[in-house]
Amino acid sequence: MKTKLTTFSLIISGLLFMSQNAFAADKPYAIAIHGGAGTISKANLTPEQRQAYKDKLKEAVDKGSKILEEGGDSLVAIQAAINILENSPLFNAGLGAVYTYDGGHELDAAIMDGKTMNAGAIAGVRHIAHPIDLALAVMNKSEHVMLSGAGAEEFALAQGFTLVPNSHFDTDARYQQLLDAREKLQAAAKSEQVASVKMQDLDYKFGTVGAVALDKKGNLAAGTSTGGMTAKRFGRIGDSPVIGAGTYAENGVCAVSATGHGEFFIRYLVAGDICAKVKYQQKSIIQAADEVINQRLITAGGSGGVIAVDQRGNIATPFNTEGMYRATRSNGEPAQVLIWQDE
Ligand code: ASP
Repeated sequence: MKTKLTTFSLIISGLLFMSQNAFAADKPYAIAIHGGAGTISKANLTPEQRQAYKDKLKEAVDKGSKILEEGGDSLVAIQAAINILENSPLFNAGLGAVYTYDGGHELDAAIMDGKTMNAGAIAGVRHIAHPIDLALAVMNKSEHVMLSGAGAEEFALAQGFTLVPNSHFDTDARYQQLLDAREKLQAAAKSEQVASVKMQDLDYKFGTVGAVALDKKGNLAAGTSTGGMTAKRFGRIGDSPVIGAGTYAENGVCAVSATGHGEFFIRYLVAGDICAKVKYQQKSIIQAADEVINQRLITAGGSGGVIAVDQRGNIATPFNTEGMYRATRSNGEPAQVLIWQDE
């Protein structure tokens, strides 16, 4: 009798497992990633450079998509995709982080879980190779949402992270960008125009990375990682680690990661505003994201873009700059990797 029962329950659980998998196989999933927006002019990118950016974006989106396809969590997928971009000097995050005015690097990151509405963020860290991993640890292992500077690194050590020297983030290309930015600032100071020289006039190089995803269980997640803006001063923190500004996810609504001139994204609460339009005005993700990036932000003078995904796996990737490095993939479709409007 006992053997019969055991066999019966084995069959039932086997059937349940199969039907759950068949169920999951039909569920939509989607991922979008970005590697920053800005004055990416076609003339300034050699065919080899274009290819290098596209290859890295494809590698990252494929990695995240595979995790989702196999039934993995959206949080795991976005972390894996962001880690790949943080490891590349092409992007302003991790290895390729821009320089502060003083010649160092200070990194910001955030991650949000749309299922639990938990979030973790770090700001102004100098010794963390993968800021998105520390943001995740803040979310999962601390009772706080945002940790900054030395305190965040003390927490990292307690969590078993290895600190890297700040020179880990040094690259010649970013250093040259700092020298150019400083020169412009100093020239403006001499001609007493300093008050009129704004960060956006410096061509300060965006390049932040981010990812948003919907997994087969219907869970949305968003993450963003950045070195901030070239020549930033005084411990400046951008929008990326500010929940609702540069990063936001809420199940049933949408997940957003932003890139652009952070001061505007903070004041206009860009990620939160897009999701609010979806939630309270029943706007499509395409329309909501477009209204914020191509109407509200343009009127305000803020440049940049977002990647966004909704509960059904629809993806929006609007930007109001010349280009935005980005890639998307959903439901087993081939990856789409783009830099400009349609190229
Ligand atoms: N949004 C980032 C910041 O302001 C910059 C970027 O997107 O590249 O810190």
